[in-house]
Amino acid sequence: TSLLQVKNLSVSIDNELPILHKISLDIKPGETHVLMGPNGAGKSTLGYSLMGNPHYCVTEGNIIFDGQDITDISADKRAKAGMFLSFQNPHEIPGISLSSFIRNSFHAQTGAPVKLMAFQKSLKSAMEVLSMDESYADRDLNVGFSGGEKKKAEILQLLMLNPKLAILDETDSGLDVDAVRTVSKGIQEYQKKKDGALLIITHSTKILEALHVDYTHVLVKGKLVCTGDGSLVDEINANGFEKFISEAE
Ligand code: ADP
Ligand code: MG
Ligand code: MG
Repeated sequence: TSLLQVKNLSVSIDNELPILHKISLDIKPGETHVLMGPNGAGKSTLGYSLMGNPHYCVTEGNIIFDGQDITDISADKRAKAGMFLSFQNPHEIPGISLSSFIRNSFHAQTGAPVKLMAFQKSLKSAMEVLSMDESYADRDLNVGFSGGEKKKAEILQLLMLNPKLAILDETDSGLDVDAVRTVSKGIQEYQKKKDGALLIITHSTKILEALHVDYTHVLVKGKLVCTGDGSLVDEINANGFEKFISEAE
């Protein structure tokens, strides 16, 4: 059975500008899907729409997640239901430490009290996977973090919150080779957990090298124009999007 079913989804920004046109997508538990496409195709728009950002209005179609129609529910309810979105440009939040932020999110999502010792232990081991110095736990969230550290902090949240579906929006953009490898290692760690599904939005194939990919989708001008297996990533890497752009016209 499906974890995420997107049916004929059309989305406009602030109720005016149509961006996405009749998108259909089916993600099963444990699957890794990659979404590729030229700049401005609507990839981030799809991520925000799935997560329930109020600027993105669904004008047609439905989003079913884990058996529930979530098309009209708020972002925090979607997070509670097990959806996670990592941002292309993570915000800096002065006054709240990385560790408290994750603890609060964890509590908000599960409703259960956080067992402090166990929490700190798993935070420490997740930070080790990501080669993050322990001191980052007590630093204000993303404040003064480098681009790479912000992305690592996103993956740290992913590992700690362990959602049913993680949407990663260009988590690898602007990272150096070593940071991409580290982030990729973190994603692999998430893939190891049973039934965790991924929608990875990316331009680069470097992050995918070490990851198992089940499906690749190509988005051009707000339309899904092609779906293939993991080898489509290599084809796009070699030939670019030109073929898909001319087909879309
Ligand atoms: P991608 O992530 O594939 O690069 P986006 O989803 O960011 O594409 O953008 C798709 C289109 O929607 C672009 O033409 C972009 O300019 C437009 N767009 C995205 N967000 C907004 C916004 N908040 N206001 C106005 N236009 C937007
Ligand atoms: Mg898997
Ligand atoms: Mg984008």
